[in-house]
Amino acid sequence: MEILAIAMIPMMLLLLGAGFLIVAQVSGFMQSAFFNQRHNFSNMIIQQYMERITLAQTQLFQRKRELEAMSAKLSLSNQELGRLNDMKSKFLSMVVHDVRTPLASIRGFSELLIKKKIGEKEAGYLKNIVSSTDQLGRLIADLTDLAMIEAGKLKMEKTPFNFPDMARDILPGLSINAQKKGVELAVHEFPEGVIVDGDKFRLSQVFMNLVNNAIKFTPAGKKVEVFFRREGKFVTTMVKDSGIGIHPSETKKIFEKFYQAKYQKDEKLRKQGWGLGLSIAQEVVRSHKGDIGATSPGLGKGSTFWFKIPAAA
Ligand code: ADP
Repeated sequence: MEILAIAMIPMMLLLLGAGFLIVAQVSGFMQSAFFNQRHNFSNMIIQQYMERITLAQTQLFQRKRELEAMSAKLSLSNQELGRLNDMKSKFLSMVVHDVRTPLASIRGFSELLIKKKIGEKEAGYLKNIVSSTDQLGRLIADLTDLAMIEAGKLKMEKTPFNFPDMARDILPGLSINAQKKGVELAVHEFPEGVIVDGDKFRLSQVFMNLVNNAIKFTPAGKKVEVFFRREGKFVTTMVKDSGIGIHPSETKKIFEKFYQAKYQKDEKLRKQGWGLGLSIAQEVVRSHKGDIGATSPGLGKGSTFWFKIPAAA
């Protein structure tokens, strides 16, 4: 019995070894199958990504080509726009020049005729011609300035000058305009000795524009007041009227070129202008590193226009 048991041991060991071998092989097979499966899966994903990247690259390349084409077109349109703008400026200055000369002679001869012995009716007609030529003259001056602004050629000739003296020189002419309209023009104290380093002609143009507008938009019998104030480094000029006022939505828009307030219903007043004066004034003030603006409590309640520019120390 013992001998039999001893003889069985190698057989059992053999069987055990074979068992181990089978288990190891099965597990190896299963592992490699799993690994292959995972490997194939990763490959598939990588391939999908590669395909997407290639597609994106093609699309990117296409977009780049489209963008290049668009940019070429844009640069052409830009050149064309620049050329048209130049043409417009040249045309404007040509028209301005060609209209100015005959206009001056129409005005001159009309004034000469007024002085002759003519009937009252004829004199009235001639005065009409003179005032219309003045109006056209102002439009031409504004258009010239606009053309220069657009061409970047509106140069400021800056020299130090006495600001209150400049205003004092202009005020008599403005008073005549106010008298003609039946509007009272009151000027409040000047801050003495304020020197401004700027373009005297252009700044007096701004001042005249604000006062003339105030007179224009104020009915007869009412008042326009002018104030000057030294505020720190600046000198501020304020023109306050008791006229037709401005709707709150338009106090900024009126400084745009060719803009005339839409809420103001007076067609006659609108036809007297072109909406250019304030935009030019804004350009002049800004090129002096100053600021300009308007406030109004509302339609029918008057308005205050102001501009401030740096004063010399
Ligand atoms: P214009 O007076 O020739 O139309 P402006 O540029 O000087 O051109 O003014 C633009 C607009 O601003 C005017 O048409 C008017 O509607 C408004 N405006 C200017 N000044 C006054 C004012 N003092 N009171 C009311 N509205 C004004």
